[in-house]
Amino acid sequence: MKKKLLPTSTVGSLPKPAWLAPPKKLWSPWKLEDDQLTEGKQDALRVSLHEQQLAGVDIISDGEQTRQHFVTTFIEQLSGVDFENRKTVKIRDRYDASVPVVVDEIRRQKAVFVDDAKFLRQQTSKPIKWALPGPMTMVDTLYDDYYKNREKLAWEFAKVLNEEARELQDAGVDIIQFDEPAFNVFFEEVNNWGMATLERAIEGLHCETAIHICYGYGIKANTDWKKTLGSEWRQYEEIFPKIQSSSIDVVSLECHGSRVPFELIELIRGKKVMVGAIDVATNKVETPEEVADTLRKALQYVDAENLYPSTNCGMAPLSRNVARGKLSALSAGAEIIRKELAL
Ligand SMILES: [Zn+2]
Repeated sequence: MKKKLLPTSTVGSLPKPAWLAPPKKLWSPWKLEDDQLTEGKQDALRVSLHEQQLAGVDIISDGEQTRQHFVTTFIEQLSGVDFENRKTVKIRDRYDASVPVVVDEIRRQKAVFVDDAKFLRQQTSKPIKWALPGPMTMVDTLYDDYYKNREKLAWEFAKVLNEEARELQDAGVDIIQFDEPAFNVFFEEVNNWGMATLERAIEGLHCETAIHICYGYGIKANTDWKKTLGSEWRQYEEIFPKIQSSSIDVVSLECHGSRVPFELIELIRGKKVMVGAIDVATNKVETPEEVADTLRKALQYVDAENLYPSTNCGMAPLSRNVARGKLSALSAGAEIIRKELAL
């Protein structure tokens, strides 16, 4: 991968065009069908790529234009899952969601995102990053009527994630990111088996690997939860030692506008850190100086060559206009710091 100081990226999702899926909601239903849907998803991916490049983003993602949801779309492609008779469960200990049901042994009979990744690879020579859900967050986003044991199911998911990740790597993906918002909620499980199952998911990979741990999309259930977390959010402290001793390369964090004390980043010194410098829970577009300020604070605990400026989380629920503005602010903020570092 070509080395540029402070390479910018999104965490993953970007808003979809309104002709593909109604905007500003999670699990938004597709407006097209069959071949038209396939073509529509590819067109949306092209637009998303174009907008990221126009905004000066350095590490390109697919904007998750081809998936309805960052977790359930992957689960639905596996055998052993019933996604028609869904059940409502409480996810992240926080809000109800209609989710697929595991009814039999989990198997990955076909690749899930590999064709999409090949398509993105053909469109750009910039480094590309692909997000997959992590094993623990998958377990926490379904109803299990078969294994009836979260750890056991996580090991099964780790196995199929590893199969998918190896094919994504072979398709030319530079960074594979695993989304684990559940890590911020179930600390004991992270330390007992969550990180171990993620290690299984990245086994044998030689591309860069990342873990994304945030406080969730900017939806009401999450912003309400954040209000209960007090004046200092120290959740990362519970899991960072485990992550620090793992073989994961990059850790993606929520920083901007959050109450996470920056000094916690010291606990993962040596890792690459995707510093969230864009708040995804507000429509207010950050100024470049605000972004730069967050990056400056993070630089006390991350060496410059290890700092990847990013968003706090996915931007799927935002308007396209706001998301575009935020991407440009991210690039402009990173540029301010690059100039300062060059002095
Ligand atoms: Zn997130």
